[in-house]
Amino acid sequence: MTEYVKTTCPYCGVGCGIEAGVDEAGHVLNIRGDKTHPANFGRLCSKGSALGDTVGLKGRLLHPQVYGQRSSWPEALDRVAGSFRDTIARYGADAVAIYASGQLLTEDYYVANKLMKGFIGSANIDTNSRLCMSSSVSGHKRAFGADTVPGCYEDLELAEMIVLIGSNAAWCHPVIFQRIRAAKTANPQLKIVVIDPRRTGSCDIADLHLPIAGGSDAMLFNGLLQYLQQRDAIDQCYIEAHTEGFGAVLDAAASGQSIEQAAEACRLPAADVRTFYRWFAEHHKVMSLYSQGVNQSSSGTDKVNSIINCHLATGRIGRPGMGPFSLTGQPNAMGGREVGGLANQLAAHMDFSNPADIDRVARFWGSPTIAGKPGLSAVELFDAIYDGKVKAVWIMGTNPAVSLPNADKVRQALRQCPFVVVSDCIADTDTTKLAHVLLPAQGWSEKDGTVTNSERRISRQRTLFAPAGDAKPDWWIITQVARRLGFGQAFPYQSPVEIFREHAALSGFENDSRHGLRDFDISALANISAREYDNLQPTQWPVNQANPYGRARMLDDSHFFTASGKAQFIAITPRQPINSPNKDYPLVLNTGRLRDQWHTMTRTGLVARLNQHKPEAFVDVHPLDAARYGLLPDSLALLESAWGSMLARVQATSDQQQGSLFVPMHWSEQFASRGRVGALVNPAIDPVSRQPESKHTPVRISSYRAAWYGFILSRRELTFNDIEYWAKSKGESFYRYELAGNTLPPSWTDWARARLGDSGQMPDWQEYHDSGLGHYRAARIIENRLESVLVISSHHNLPERNWLASLFDKNSLEPSDRKALLTGMPPQGVADSGNIVCVCFNVGEKTIRSAIQEQGLKTVRDIGNCLKAGTNCGSCLPEIKALL
Ligand code: SF4
Repeated sequence: MTEYVKTTCPYCGVGCGIEAGVDEAGHVLNIRGDKTHPANFGRLCSKGSALGDTVGLKGRLLHPQVYGQRSSWPEALDRVAGSFRDTIARYGADAVAIYASGQLLTEDYYVANKLMKGFIGSANIDTNSRLCMSSSVSGHKRAFGADTVPGCYEDLELAEMIVLIGSNAAWCHPVIFQRIRAAKTANPQLKIVVIDPRRTGSCDIADLHLPIAGGSDAMLFNGLLQYLQQRDAIDQCYIEAHTEGFGAVLDAAASGQSIEQAAEACRLPAADVRTFYRWFAEHHKVMSLYSQGVNQSSSGTDKVNSIINCHLATGRIGRPGMGPFSLTGQPNAMGGREVGGLANQLAAHMDFSNPADIDRVARFWGSPTIAGKPGLSAVELFDAIYDGKVKAVWIMGTNPAVSLPNADKVRQALRQCPFVVVSDCIADTDTTKLAHVLLPAQGWSEKDGTVTNSERRISRQRTLFAPAGDAKPDWWIITQVARRLGFGQAFPYQSPVEIFREHAALSGFENDSRHGLRDFDISALANISAREYDNLQPTQWPVNQANPYGRARMLDDSHFFTASGKAQFIAITPRQPINSPNKDYPLVLNTGRLRDQWHTMTRTGLVARLNQHKPEAFVDVHPLDAARYGLLPDSLALLESAWGSMLARVQATSDQQQGSLFVPMHWSEQFASRGRVGALVNPAIDPVSRQPESKHTPVRISSYRAAWYGFILSRRELTFNDIEYWAKSKGESFYRYELAGNTLPPSWTDWARARLGDSGQMPDWQEYHDSGLGHYRAARIIENRLESVLVISSHHNLPERNWLASLFDKNSLEPSDRKALLTGMPPQGVADSGNIVCVCFNVGEKTIRSAIQEQGLKTVRDIGNCLKAGTNCGSCLPEIKALL
């Protein structure tokens, strides 16, 4: 009997509802989309669909460790509390810090903030959500007086025009993209505009793609504002009744901005800019969805406000089918905002800038020592650790040694830090390696609590399994340390529902719901019973006396949370990125996510099918730049910035603008020797939101010439610490290693046997060596089953991997297979499938190409009928369309 438990996907801010089928033995059997969940109505993307493959014990941190030794919970907790207490006593509260994560549940987040801000008395708690959406938070607060997301996902189906700005939703918010695609199919009149320097998968359904110059978004939207004013397309009544500052914003926007000038500043064809402006003016129901391309900028807050300005000027906000909408990156970035997860926030959307808020939170918590000022934001926090000002840090559920800008400096900061605690569910990450104390946290399938998605919808994450090893909930771990620090009275929690009740009660504390002093108010849930909490249905806040069942849209009553109750236009003078390309670093590096990976691959990297699409870190480069810098397709390139360097596989593509490079953000030292793009990223931050500029780093690129290139497929996991370049990915029954080295070994035979294992029995080895051409191939076969295969060449062009990988599925090799292992060519009649495009059905690029050519397939549906590709989660449809 399989019991289905309703829970929520832990990967992105879409917040899809999941039904997880758990059998009596307690193993997940099946993951399916929850058809009743309003975020996804049963849809899932490739990552969500593969969640069942991530819940095993492999890679889990199972027991507390203190200085590398397994310990008991009491010992580890005593050590954490003792070190924090001593550090505070010697150097003050600001010498300790917490760096948290949008992966935490709201209850975990609430307790962490309460401990740090309310009782330790420092606001040095920031979160990796700083890297993701703090510019949106700041933009909302400047315009609306509160961090309010006005709209909801239902607006996607009601809109007449959807503008995607700095958002490759097709890969980063795939279910949102599926909803937009479905809306477009149902209503072909729906206009889709994509504003992105790159041609991405999201352009697949676009009526217009504006490949804007990186960093120039505010110029485009200032130009739009002026166009709307000139064409009489503004809503003067709305502006007069509900806003302030329109004159000043218009003056700033109008400073020399004709359409031609805006187009030139954004390096766009004037005709395309005119079309965008005209469409925006002509369509009443316009949604502007924006994400990291807007937020991750040294002027991210200004960009957000330049978008909001256009919606305020047209009165298109808070009503069905329209409004600015920030797509959050992480599953609980929004929940973190609710509890004050950022160092400049207080709990329940209160703020350090208001002394009454500080006093209110202090009284509610009974806090004797509440922090009185904002703490250090992420980049500043790790700088302070590096400088020795912060001497003890607790990192929760995140991997800053990979994900923060200037990541080599972050790594060095942690090496120098006297006391580093990491609580995580994964044992080996680049950050856990630097910890003095490791605390095993529960993983997604074990946790119990709530998360909030991009549309303010609170959903339950429910326990599927008993915890692995000694793993504990984050809220429990924090509570135990709080008690040891002497704050037991304020941390009496025995279960997450108790924390949720307190969080809900604080949101309503001295918050008159009829007059809406604060936007975040879930006070109607303050007395929720444990049973009601267990059964809590997905609900959009506010949930209070006025909105007992939640509220789909906010700001629809034109009440804003500013002193005057009116929305604020923010005058924007566009600024260039802080670090511009120069003669040493002439190119701009842009970073982002891939379709099938999540963050630093700690979970998605475990899933074979999610590693097939892009098995190695790569750099997208325009073909003319590739020619200019001598970069051959599929060769290795060295990328360097003023902050660090990395190696990546070259992908020449005209989807990339000349002068600009794109590298995915996911690779860590667990998966590649030199694949961390964070090492290069510049640490410039937005002066308002303190969000780093991850999309704009000056870099240079050159061909990386190694003495030899190769790859290994092996059933056994291997290590290559002494080779200049290696990159690991997981297949179904093997590991794949891409390799390049600068030193030729004296004997490839000895090298191969040392690497692949000889076990003294001399298993069945096959070898081919052509020293003249620099070719070496070897296969290790045990009982006629392929154990490992190694291919070495003096050139980076190596045999295809996928047909070789298919030999690992065979229980017994054919003579033709054995021959092919040595020739490096598939046996006659066997085709290589190429890189996997559809991970749900394991369909490769070459298979799709030949089906198109040989069978005359013309549509995505034809390909689905013929190969099944694209017929499940739909995440690969843009790529299939591109192949067509
Ligand atoms: Fe999870 Fe994909 Fe839904 Fe995001 S879009 S919540 S990753 S299933």
